[in-house]
Amino acid sequence: MNILVATSEAVPFAKTGGLADVCGALPIELARLGHQAALILPAYRQVRYCGHPIERMGIDFIVPIGSKTVTGHLLRSRLPDSGVPVYLVQQDAYFDRDELYRQNGQDFQDNCERFVFFCRAVMEAIRLLGLDLDVLHCNDWQTGLIPAYLKIEYRNLPRYEKISSLLTIHNIAYQGMFWHWDMLLTGLDWKYFNWHQMEYYGKLNLLKTGIVFSDAVNTVSPRYAQEIQTAQFGRGLEGVLQHRRDVLSGILNGIDEAVWNPATDSNLAARYTPDSVDVGKPLCKAALQRELGLAERRDVPLVGMIGRLDDQKGFDLVAEIIPEWAATADVQWAILGKGEPKYHDLFTQLAKSHPEKVAVRLEYSDPLAHRIEAGADLFLMPSRFEPCGLNQMYSLKYGTVPVVRETGGLADTITNADDRTLASGEANGFSFREDNALALSETLRRACDTYRNRPDVWKRLIRVGMRQDWSWRRSATEYVRLYESMVSRVRSGQATVR
Ligand code: ADP
Repeated sequence: MNILVATSEAVPFAKTGGLADVCGALPIELARLGHQAALILPAYRQVRYCGHPIERMGIDFIVPIGSKTVTGHLLRSRLPDSGVPVYLVQQDAYFDRDELYRQNGQDFQDNCERFVFFCRAVMEAIRLLGLDLDVLHCNDWQTGLIPAYLKIEYRNLPRYEKISSLLTIHNIAYQGMFWHWDMLLTGLDWKYFNWHQMEYYGKLNLLKTGIVFSDAVNTVSPRYAQEIQTAQFGRGLEGVLQHRRDVLSGILNGIDEAVWNPATDSNLAARYTPDSVDVGKPLCKAALQRELGLAERRDVPLVGMIGRLDDQKGFDLVAEIIPEWAATADVQWAILGKGEPKYHDLFTQLAKSHPEKVAVRLEYSDPLAHRIEAGADLFLMPSRFEPCGLNQMYSLKYGTVPVVRETGGLADTITNADDRTLASGEANGFSFREDNALALSETLRRACDTYRNRPDVWKRLIRVGMRQDWSWRRSATEYVRLYESMVSRVRSGQATVR
């Protein structure tokens, strides 16, 4: 199959979040599975300085943006260690800026115009590059107009008529909402500005547009695909998602095993496999305790936490329980993250009061993240919502038992340890459903008791997790299955044109 992945960011070219990891990894795995995959994204200033060779192609194009026309150029690069072509849309007035979407904490005023331009550029690039596509894989609101252009403006043109479009939602909290006059920039008829299609309470909503006009929609975990159809998680788009439920599915992201693998990780004091974890992990734990100034004890459970310090990640629940735990429980904490000042203050204070038990690093440190994943015994991730989540999968790989809230990708990756799941060999962690601090505290206590009193059960949990497959190959195989089903549905004429 021939697939073009359209995205607003991808590693190693430009990154603000997990979307970039997915879009940098998936095309490489698709190519390894024997498909023709390519990537297209804006040529931001970051792209020019990312250190990868970029060539001019001598291909220019002109697209309409509202009442004016704007010129763009196509550049070419490749994803590292692969032959996967990367096409870069250059338009310096839109993309040659310090940051991708915002400056000084404020979104750029012309974000709608910038991504109308990008979506139109992608449509033109298909023709100019002579791509014979089966699937156009769009990602998040920045590419939400592409399925609409495909259905409304390009459908009857040769080369476009057989293309199926997929929209992947990486986080429904970001929808690309703009005032209604930005509808003029899209060049689409006002008749589409209605509550079934592009409008959301008087505003233009680009994620909704993508959901409505694409041939299929997916999110980054099966559970999140269910959750976003409810008012609790859907951020107002639950109705339109319910309407598209026949073509809505979830595929978990993978982890990059070249980077996250305890057998080869050069950040660690010792490397280990499922067979040598008993020897390697205690060495990593002792090294982490030394590095962070915690008491160097093997018997005490060490809880790791890494991530954005905000309410999405459940830090409000943690804030409720941690003062008492630090004061009374024989448990150590290693916390790495940056975020809301209230959490910076709380954790700094706790680390000062209990230096032998609580270690806090308020920074972004990739090497330390690796060492916490390897050195901790438990990894805590009590998120309020979690489209997929990566840290719990890294933890499984590193033999660090996750304690999570049962939501989104956490629910799909972590099987709570109880008598049944332990007997069947499925258990790989601990989880709780309720959205409150008491449930978190009880589950953490259950995990710490298991660590202390049932070492054989603990070993089993570690081994089950370490042997599971969370690779990109697994995810890419599922994407191929989804692409194939879309293509056969579209070609047999079953896809509905709304
Ligand atoms: P998010 O919702 O933030 O994308 P994920 O769990 O999906 O959450 O992925 C977060 C990624 O960012 C993980 O790879 C995690 O290790 C990393 N990360 C987050 N905060 C930090 C930090 N302070 N230092 C190092 N890595 C971090």
